[in-house]
Amino acid sequence: MFNLLKKRFSEILEKISNKGIITEKNIKVTLREIRKSLLEADVALSVVKKFIHNVKKKSLGKKFNTSLTPGQEFIKIIKHELIQKLGNDDNTLKFSKKPPSIYLIVGLQGMGKTTSIGKIGQLLHKQYKKKVLNVTTDTYRFAAVKQLELLSLQTQIDFFLFKENNDPKEIAINSIKYAIKKSYDVVLIDTSGRLHTDQKMMLELQDIYKTINPTETLLVVDSMLGQDVTNIAERFSTLVNITGIILTKMDSDTKGGVALSIKELTQKPIKFVGNGEKLDAIEIFNSQKIANRILGMEDIFSLIKEIENKIILPKQKINNLKKKFDLNDFLIYVNQVRNTGGLAYLIKKLPINKTISQLSNTINDKELNNFVAIINSMTKIEKKNPNIIKNSRKHRIALGSGLNVQSVNKLLKQFDIVKKMVEKVKKIGLSQSIKNLFF
Ligand code: GDP
Repeated sequence: MFNLLKKRFSEILEKISNKGIITEKNIKVTLREIRKSLLEADVALSVVKKFIHNVKKKSLGKKFNTSLTPGQEFIKIIKHELIQKLGNDDNTLKFSKKPPSIYLIVGLQGMGKTTSIGKIGQLLHKQYKKKVLNVTTDTYRFAAVKQLELLSLQTQIDFFLFKENNDPKEIAINSIKYAIKKSYDVVLIDTSGRLHTDQKMMLELQDIYKTINPTETLLVVDSMLGQDVTNIAERFSTLVNITGIILTKMDSDTKGGVALSIKELTQKPIKFVGNGEKLDAIEIFNSQKIANRILGMEDIFSLIKEIENKIILPKQKINNLKKKFDLNDFLIYVNQVRNTGGLAYLIKKLPINKTISQLSNTINDKELNNFVAIINSMTKIEKKNPNIIKNSRKHRIALGSGLNVQSVNKLLKQFDIVKKMVEKVKKIGLSQSIKNLFF
């Protein structure tokens, strides 16, 4: 999902992330590249134009936060804008106050309606512990009834059996009565796929909708349709109040741009994304998560977790540090950073506090040996509380370690940086402190 965009964005953003200053000129180049990538991924032109306009407006003349480089601030603006385009506030599935919640699933034939019902039923049952009833009103196709019956069997969700002579509206009404009687939390109602040119069938859908007054009416659209989604959404919106979109087949050959266009083009939020034929291949749509994925940050966050768990300041170690962080801890810390091989390179790529990346760049073997020599020349009390080291002691320590006062000062400065960071991490954890910087 979003592989093309992700690839393009990572190339573009890598170039800008280390920029010390943001100028009209370097923004212009980057925005041109972003514009090209979005269009290449099939994001609608009007959406791309707005996106570029907003990013430009927000980044020029902005006073940047000191803990991020301007390049990183710029990425933050892009992320914010991506989230806006994906739709930020109304993606959660609504449940009715009084059960059952009724979800009417509509859309053209072949979009993935029935499959999505199978997936959503399973998701609501497993993750939300809901008692779900699957219903089909597609009396036109025997195969469609069998398909949902089979999916229900596979996912162990109850399937509503209807009488042969019932019409679609009657089936919907009866299923809801049954769901109330049997205390179901959720009723998922499939409708027959219809052509939006078939007036009779479209009116039948409207009739069902008006009669059952669903909690949500979800329009299923295939992401391969690209911008045609707009016409379909418009047509269905003239009959029923679409409350959300299920975007299917995001795993297929789609370039993904439709996810960034839908909210703006249709004013409807995406609620679910289908990303495979298997029954667990569905995600509740989360704009933050998708923006992170497009920007390659999902990988970065799992990397941070790994770093946090394995290498830098494992949590229990920090928690055990009841005492104040001192030079002995500092030595352990720099040793860990140094021993992580490719870590310095990875940290450089992170949207991370400047001080951490500076630190990982500067500590090499020679420097570590100097640090060890200097710390060994200190008294136990000085190691515990370096603040008490006055100038005269600095000279003595420098002499004792065979180095100069500048090296002692450098060590003390690095110690201060790490101490501040550790105190912050101690409070909220490394990944959270990095996320806080970036959100
Ligand atoms: P309906 O006519 O709208 O009910 O569509 P179906 O649920 O029968 O799905 C049509 C085809 O699309 C089936 O072959 C499904 O397996 C396939 N399909 C549905 N959702 C997805 C998805 O997210 N990814 C992929 N690759 N295929 C899907």
